[in-house]
Amino acid sequence: MSTLTTAAQAAQRELAGFEGRLTGPEDADYDEARKVYNAMIDRRPAVIARCASAADVAKVVGFARAHGLPLAVRGGGHNGAGLGTVDNGVVIDLSPMRGVDVDPQARTVRVAGGCTWGEVDRATNEHGLATPSGIISTTGVGGLTLGGGLGHLTRKCGLAIDNLLEAELVLANGDIVRASDDENPDLFWAIRGGGGNFGVVTSFLFRLHDVGTVIGGPTFWDIDQSAEVLSAYREFLPAAPRELNGFFAFATVPPAPPFPEALHLRKVCGVVWCYVGSEEDAAKAMAPLLDAVPEPLMHGVQPMPHPDLQSAFDALYPKGDQWYWRADFVREIPDEAVREHARFGAQLPTMQSTMHLYPIDGAAHDVAASDTAWAYRDAVWGTVYAGVDPDPGNVSDIRNWTVDYFEALHPYSAGGAYVNMMMDEGQERVRAAYGDNYDRLAKIKAKYDPENLFRVNQNIQPAA
Ligand SMILES: Cc1cc2nc3c(=O)[nH]c(=O)nc-3n(C[C@H](O)[C@H](O)[C@H](O)COP(=O)(O)OP(=O)(O)OC[C@H]3O[C@@H](n4cnc5c(N)ncnc54)[C@H](O)[C@@H]3O)c2cc1C
Repeated sequence: MSTLTTAAQAAQRELAGFEGRLTGPEDADYDEARKVYNAMIDRRPAVIARCASAADVAKVVGFARAHGLPLAVRGGGHNGAGLGTVDNGVVIDLSPMRGVDVDPQARTVRVAGGCTWGEVDRATNEHGLATPSGIISTTGVGGLTLGGGLGHLTRKCGLAIDNLLEAELVLANGDIVRASDDENPDLFWAIRGGGGNFGVVTSFLFRLHDVGTVIGGPTFWDIDQSAEVLSAYREFLPAAPRELNGFFAFATVPPAPPFPEALHLRKVCGVVWCYVGSEEDAAKAMAPLLDAVPEPLMHGVQPMPHPDLQSAFDALYPKGDQWYWRADFVREIPDEAVREHARFGAQLPTMQSTMHLYPIDGAAHDVAASDTAWAYRDAVWGTVYAGVDPDPGNVSDIRNWTVDYFEALHPYSAGGAYVNMMMDEGQERVRAAYGDNYDRLAKIKAKYDPENLFRVNQNIQPAA
């Protein structure tokens, strides 16, 4: 009998009162249950424990610890490096834990650990409210928040972690605790950027903002105008009002409505906008960029409910494609970097491959580098290079383009990268991601997880 089967049977025997579902390699739904978003990741866990409650999570944490089995925690399963699963170990899958509870009076939302952002955005939008999330609604609240959380509302409302008020966690010793400014403040500091290193978060409490309808959508220019548009954008964005978010991107126009047929499959550079306020004010805020560059191919900006913008790219990026990522923080984009961007943008290897420059100024700069674990508060953008394609036969093309692009631009970076957009890149890159905050994180890790049970992540090693 295989080790895998033995572990699954041991879990069935030992986890008395477990309310969720345990799946092992012998089960018919095992292959479906082990899939994560990035199809390049193909791991075979010994047990997948779909947990129904914090008590379930605590039981599984105890089981993995007692058997010395590697333990992965899965929120939305979107992590590029596949950190929501593990070979020959135990996966805590939080997907059955989906409650979203909006309190419009307190202007807060309580979100269970297995939710995805679309559920949260739709529930808060019913009250004309929102909390900052990412740009794809199927991404997990858990991983995105614990790594930081960049998105359409970053400049107006800050990172996702800047709006986190409280979390409930299951620790490595099985205790269920709360972390906030008042309870376990060291833990609360660490989970705001430190990823899943400190425990399994079973519920989050977020602050809400008056964001119902936004003025959003893309502006596209011909790929040959990339250098000109990016040069204007790098000056424009930091001076723009914080109500305006606009990430720069290289893309291929999808061959489907609402895009005009004449543009289908055309390589473009663009800015994807989100303005919180009136259409008139949005136009004024965008004007300095639009007036400084050539006429665009398309300016598809219009009022829409916030959840519509936040899910606008979902169809383009379904589960099951091959993904290879690299990332960096940048403080400025010098002329040489603009030239390199234009060169690699023109060579997008596949229709879904892309590069985004996510703004991280505005409200994200109101928080000091040492106030949370997220260290790069002086960066102005987070760059992500993403090679994406459904065909496994194209993996080497998308990987080569991504790595070559990253290597050409890395000399112009601030040094480290956003942990949520890294692959498995080694310990030095994890240290670089946390900069001066790393040593403090390592001490907190030693207090809450001295044996490094939670190590399937961008790992912070416990201080000696
Ligand atoms: C298509 C796509 C779009 C994206 N867009 C954005 C974006 O706009 N902004 C942005 O900031 N990021 C974005 N990301 C990156 C995203 O933040 C990371 O991939 C993140 O890790 C996904 O979280 P998850 O819960 O879905 O992932 P998972 O794979 O489930 O988990 C990722 C990591 O987080 C840990 N984790 C997850 N949930 C919990 C929990 N409840 N408690 C403890 N640990 C937990 C896991 O252990 C693992 O280490 C995007 C990713 C994809 C694939």
